[in-house]
Formats: sequence, C-alpha cells, structure tokens
Amino acid sequence: MRILIVEDERQIAAFLERGLKEEGYAIDVVYNGNDALDWAAAVEYDGIVLDVMLPGRDGFSVCRELRARGSKTPVLMLTARDTVDDRVAGLDIGADDYLVKPFAFKELVARLRAVTRRQTDTRSVELQVGDLTLNTLTHTAQRGERRIELTAKEYNLLEFLMRNPNRVLTRTQIAEHVWNLDFLSESNVVDVYIRYLRRKIDDEPDLKLIKTVRGSGYLISDDPE
Ligand code: CA
Repeated sequence: MRILIVEDERQIAAFLERGLKEEGYAIDVVYNGNDALDWAAAVEYDGIVLDVMLPGRDGFSVCRELRARGSKTPVLMLTARDTVDDRVAGLDIGADDYLVKPFAFKELVARLRAVTRRQTDTRSVELQVGDLTLNTLTHTAQRGERRIELTAKEYNLLEFLMRNPNRVLTRTQIAEHVWNLDFLSESNVVDVYIRYLRRKIDDEPDLKLIKTVRGSGYLISDDPE
C-alpha cells in the first residue's frame, strides 16, 4: 500500500516514514498542504496521514479540498490538540479517523490499517481468490491446505493483486502501490517479485492464479485460462 505522509515537523515525518517503511508500506513525504494536494492529485494513494498544524494551508483545509475534488482516499489526521471541537471538525470535513499527539506508533499503524481496510471493502481481514486466502493481519497466505510464508514485499504485492481481482494491473500501477518512487523507472523489480510469488503460490496447483497479460501487466484470477 502506498501512503502519503503530510507533516512539517521533519523529525516526526522521518520517524513515521522509517517506521511505516519497516511495516512494508510504500511512503512519500511532503511538508506542506499545497504539496500534499499536488501529490494526491498525481498519485493514487491508499491512505494519507495528515497533520493538522501545517504552515500555510492547514490539514483541515487540505482534507476539505481533497473531498471537494471527489477523493475518497482514507485520511488519518494528526493533531497536537485534543479538543472535542477539533475532533468534530476533522470528522465533519471527511477525515476517516483522528489521532492525538503524542501517540504510540503501534496505534498509528493499527488505525491506518483500519481506515484503509474500511475503504477497500469488507469487515473481513481475509482476502480470497480461488483457494488462495491472504490474512491481512498476520500477513500469511494459504493455498488450499498449504500455509505460505511471505516476505514484506511479497505480501504487499500479493495484497495489491488480491484487492483488485480480475483486473489487469500495469507494472507502473503495481510499482506505484508497492514500492517507493526511487525504486521505479527502468527496474524490472515487479517481474522479479511476481516470479518469487509464483514460486510460492502457483508452484504445484494446476490452476495458476497469477496471469501475465502480454504487453499490459499482470492480473490475479481463478478463471481457468
Ligand atoms: Ca505540524
């Protein structure tokens, strides 16, 4: 999943970036509200961590503008002030959840997971395609009876595919959601990780779930070819 962090305090921004990258997220960081709107218009984010107190355009204004543009990207707002007014204001203008500084990093991760899950579908923590299931809490997969351990990147790649079943995803779309921008360009990293995943989930079964769409990209589906 690709997350945009909007926070002008560099230390906090760096701390969040490092922590969320370790959790396997792809992360972009901006330090003011105008950049946040530019980036959110250019990149399809899975979630935005948005500080309220920003120089110039504040977090409320950014969130209001995002919603006015029709964006449904989940927004988790951060604020230093724990007042009912702030809380209500944030939720009123379309933020999905609210976290008061200082917060425990674990709580931020849990809330981010909750708001992004709410967006993508279901109350369920399991994604399913054919006999393949992916648990979004434990980050483990199961194909039939067989349990499959995944690395962080393999998990993120598989999760992105499984949240978009039967849909052709280009290498660029995949890379944008799963890797950080500095990783992209000419690299064949997507193909390499698709190969890793296939080895783990599509090795034995007759029905291959991950399909190559020549000239386009990849898709996951349990339709027989
Ligand atoms: Ca701030």
